[in-house]
Amino acid sequence: MARVGFIGLGNMGSGMAANLAKAGHEVRAFDLSAEALAKAARSGCTSAGSAAEAATDAEAVLTMLPAGHHVREVFEASVFNAAPASAILIDCSTIDVATAREVEAEAAAKDKTMVDAPVSGGIAAAEAGTLTFMVGGSADGFARAEPFLQAMGQAVIHAGGPGAGQAAKICNNMLLGASMIATCEAFLLAEKLGLDLKTFYDISSKASGQCWSMTSYCPVPGVGPSSPADRNYEGGFAAALMLKDLRLAMEAAESVGAETPMGERAEELYADFAEHGGAARDFSGIITMLREAGTP
Ligand code: NAD
Repeated sequence: MARVGFIGLGNMGSGMAANLAKAGHEVRAFDLSAEALAKAARSGCTSAGSAAEAATDAEAVLTMLPAGHHVREVFEASVFNAAPASAILIDCSTIDVATAREVEAEAAAKDKTMVDAPVSGGIAAAEAGTLTFMVGGSADGFARAEPFLQAMGQAVIHAGGPGAGQAAKICNNMLLGASMIATCEAFLLAEKLGLDLKTFYDISSKASGQCWSMTSYCPVPGVGPSSPADRNYEGGFAAALMLKDLRLAMEAAESVGAETPMGERAEELYADFAEHGGAARDFSGIITMLREAGTP
């Protein structure tokens, strides 16, 4: 088993670090929050006094941080200097593609191997060790990162070269954001046209409109398998995080000149929802805003 440094023990990182410790790795964990450090210590990790201390002598260093600038800062100020050249560096945060590529290029210039490995799945999947990882980096980097990621997930997929994991993640979530809004619209229109929503679900979930937002995560309470809609849109995937991913997708689309009108509209609608009290609610809760916006 390996000595692993883990930096960023928030909602996601705490469960992920705990699963690495459960798999038998010696996890030295660091976070700016003393509370997060104490929680990690209770789940079998050793507390480190700094990010550099977590990375020293590590065979793998993992990060799970909020945004690109945190990742750049932690790698440039601590990890690149402290981690041995032999360590595999794995950033699991969701960040912009450009920063991911730049930081990975810096790693390569220092003869270090780094991959981006953002996740699909929320806090519950992080705790249960059932995340899906999409990995960007060299074939060698992927092969070295894979065993550590397997300890925290149910699927680990090599998406391509540096930044490809982040690219896959934001393309997927742009599709998810737009398809959730389209699913909400379809149910709201069906309702106004007098259809029974369960009947509409039974039809559409077997017809060409079928999609994950409908059949696995239905935004209507009491319809389809259990989902956050059945819990008043509590828990699940926060609308604020969907908005973050849509903004990353729009930034990336602009940088490469891709036409993404549905993604753009999804970003506007999620910004509106987040601004009007929806930020902490599950992203499927946007149906409540769309329902209110409709004429009575
Ligand atoms: P979070 O805010 O709960 O945790 C981030 C942690 O990083 C915090 O504990 C913070 O103290 C720590 N941190 C910040 N700067 C640091 C530094 N310089 N050194 C050490 N620690 C530092 O966020 P989260 O919900 O765990 O999300 C982490 C990443 O995972 C984000 O990029 C997010 O987009 C992505 N993500 C989250 C979810 C989700 O459901 N929460 C799902 C998929 C992906």
